[in-house]
Amino acid sequence: MREQTSILIIYTGGTIGMVQDPKTMSLKPLSFDILYKYLPVLENFNYKFDFYTFRPLLDSSNMNPSFWVELAKVIEDNYETFDGFVVLHGSDTMAYTASALSFMLENLNKPVIFTGSQLPIGMVRTDGRENFINSIEIAAAHEQETPVVPEVAICFENRLYRGNRTTKFNAEHFGAFVSGNFPSLAKIGVDIRYNNELILKPNFKRLKVHKNLDDNIAILKLFPGINRNVVSSTFATPGLKAVILETFGAGNAPTVSWFLDLLKEAIDKGMILFNVTQCKGGKVDIGKYETSAGLGKIGVIGGYDITTESAVTKMMYLLGTGLPKGEVERLLQISLRGEMTV
Ligand code: ASP
Repeated sequence: MREQTSILIIYTGGTIGMVQDPKTMSLKPLSFDILYKYLPVLENFNYKFDFYTFRPLLDSSNMNPSFWVELAKVIEDNYETFDGFVVLHGSDTMAYTASALSFMLENLNKPVIFTGSQLPIGMVRTDGRENFINSIEIAAAHEQETPVVPEVAICFENRLYRGNRTTKFNAEHFGAFVSGNFPSLAKIGVDIRYNNELILKPNFKRLKVHKNLDDNIAILKLFPGINRNVVSSTFATPGLKAVILETFGAGNAPTVSWFLDLLKEAIDKGMILFNVTQCKGGKVDIGKYETSAGLGKIGVIGGYDITTESAVTKMMYLLGTGLPKGEVERLLQISLRGEMTV
């Protein structure tokens, strides 16, 4: 018989925990005790809750790798004590944090469910109450002693998504996230309908937490008219080890020689170039068009259907492992945590 299910709620900040100051009308974060007051329904759950609060609470625009490490450590320190984790986080960079945590938490066998909201919990029409309550249910869900969702996921507006497949695509709709290349892990209605074949299976190995992230990377988003100075100054960034090249469509880029020459020069100097599409669905297919074949020939690595959020955090994680360049390039092309369809 399982004991009472226990959930650790980790409050990092974001709109969900804010209220509007009636005098200034601006949004400010609430301490957890007060936030709790807005959700008396939590007392009706038959689960044991504990809380960890980031200090200071963050608007997620201020998230960075050191906070990802703090979050990973909190989960590591409490991993044996709790059955599941709910992370309250601003929606702006939630897809990045969820992607980062998916790579940092190797052999994760428990749910880590991110949620937040578009309207603060103190507002009458808030979407935060529903998102929070659904996340708790999902983090607590077990079947035959095994968690139903033993992976990092985002629960938002009646959908559960694999965290490293998501992108925030709408700043106003309650459904703020899209997972363009992977179906949702669950649909939330009267029942929570899990898509069990898609959810990662537990491997029952010991959790291994990777805390070394290397931020010597850049994103170079292509646009028609991008000029030589912009491209060359990006590659001239001191200490730069890798560039996520955000290309057009199926991984296409200009074929003009100065552009390919600059890329080749960077690769010859030891830099890793990772080709990710600007599209929210579909994949990089190097060689499909003439405009991507050249990239493949000079050694640009194709990112298939990975999101930019996942590419950035996977690169930080892989560079942080200190593995040789060839091995990092090999691992970039295989799915480590379900982040791409290969
Ligand atoms: N700016 C807020 C944040 O990301 C927006 C939100 O929570 O939805 O922290």
